[in-house]
Amino acid sequence: MVKSTFTFQELKRTNHREIKELQDQKFRAFIRYQVWPNHQYYRRLFKDNNIDPFNITCVEDWAKYNIPLVKKVDYKENIPKFVINPSEVDGKPREPAQVVGNLLKYSKETGHNEMAKFVRNNGAKVKLKIGAKAAMGRLQSKMTEQFAPLQFWLSSGRASGLPSPVFLTRYDWELLEKNCVKAGQLAVDPFVKTGWEVISMNLFPYAPHLGWHAVNLGLRQMSKFYVATSAGGAIPSEKLVDIAGTFKANSITGMPSYMRNRFFRAMKESKDYQAPEKVVLLLAGEKIYDAALDDMISVLEEKGAKEIQAVGGYASSESKISFAAQCERHGPYHNVSPLMLAFELVKLNDDGTYDFVGDDESGHMSLFHLDSTGTVFEGFLLGDVASHQERGKCPLCGLDGPFFWDIGRTNDAEAQLDIMGLSEKKIKGATVNLTALRAELLSVSEIEEVQIEVAKEDMSDPYSMDVLNLYVAPKGPKNADYSSLIAQLKKMTKTNTEVTPGVFILDFEELVDKAGGMKFMEIIDSRPKPA
Ligand SMILES: [Zn+2]
Repeated sequence: MVKSTFTFQELKRTNHREIKELQDQKFRAFIRYQVWPNHQYYRRLFKDNNIDPFNITCVEDWAKYNIPLVKKVDYKENIPKFVINPSEVDGKPREPAQVVGNLLKYSKETGHNEMAKFVRNNGAKVKLKIGAKAAMGRLQSKMTEQFAPLQFWLSSGRASGLPSPVFLTRYDWELLEKNCVKAGQLAVDPFVKTGWEVISMNLFPYAPHLGWHAVNLGLRQMSKFYVATSAGGAIPSEKLVDIAGTFKANSITGMPSYMRNRFFRAMKESKDYQAPEKVVLLLAGEKIYDAALDDMISVLEEKGAKEIQAVGGYASSESKISFAAQCERHGPYHNVSPLMLAFELVKLNDDGTYDFVGDDESGHMSLFHLDSTGTVFEGFLLGDVASHQERGKCPLCGLDGPFFWDIGRTNDAEAQLDIMGLSEKKIKGATVNLTALRAELLSVSEIEEVQIEVAKEDMSDPYSMDVLNLYVAPKGPKNADYSSLIAQLKKMTKTNTEVTPGVFILDFEELVDKAGGMKFMEIIDSRPKPA
């Protein structure tokens, strides 16, 4: 039987062959009855490449028919076209009966049984004119819930000064609510077996990004008690450590660099804090370095923790409704909702084609939605790389499904241009387009030249917090008072990148010398590389 999704328990007892079969079934119906009729960008893409969407039977067919992968830059230039919109087709309004018909076919073939029943019953009433008006009203409000964008979060930083929103509908939130809890369940599973209960704490930064919101939704469902805080700004880290101690939080989530450099540092210095015996640490949003994680674990041990389960999560604003998560510190990342989305590794060939990689090859991470409305992505290059993926039984936790190892960011600027069509830097977890920032800074009339530097708070510690520095050569006479210019540049950068920079005033010659003379380095990343 087709299913719309798995609960965590179902995921644990289903094998990868069954998962793959259901995954393909859902993908097929999703392409036929949601993407092809309702998604402007892919409709055009299929037409331009002479693809009959009814020939697509599995995710791998994307490569078989050589359907172009979508780069970040393609998305940024076509944001509204990526939103599922059933009310229009090829620029003309679509018949309501057709909208209802597509939704009925889609829900029947994807295991959305409640929805299929609802649409069928109310559709019949309208057709047979039995309580037609009320039935029509019910259908309309269902369509709004299903398709109307309700809110957005920001994809990655900004391009040419504009944010890139990813839109979510009420229906997306329903899916997210079911899926987000599974990432947490995977992390706490080894402890839960012993009757241990979750007292959780959210230390992701509060922002219009996926992280805080998804964690909030997940922890609230799976916890006996939930300390709904956030990192940065509102409450100082020392105070957050006190709160963690008071409520005996035993499941703590946040971004690695904040956790290591602020929260656990404050914890180390606290005289009163006592760690619970068993602690779960779920980190996401940035690469997790072993040495940084060792530091966090040693603080917890010093404070009395005996068993620590430290795992990473993987998601992106674009994955939207679900994630992958590690089962153990050195374990692979499991896709916790393989019927909602697929993560696939691809290798890009020199002739512009691409292939899905085999089990032992590394590749670029691509995303395929199998469900969801609002903004939807198929064959989307996320800009991450993984060492390899497998389908089968995990050697560590026994979960039998798709998983992948060693996820990291495509960091090299040139590689980024290839994969994403633009170059970005991750600074304090926020993705920042520094080329756009530089253009904006140069538009300030008092500025002659500027160099942007990404560095570390402590340059001898590769795991310390990121900092952004601006080296600025102003126009006009020297020795003026630059305090208002500095304030302006700080504000401008913060508005554009969510990061407050250090601003250093130099005279022009000095700046040119510093920035490399003839070969002026407009943007430098001087962060020391972790060993
Ligand atoms: Zn595992």
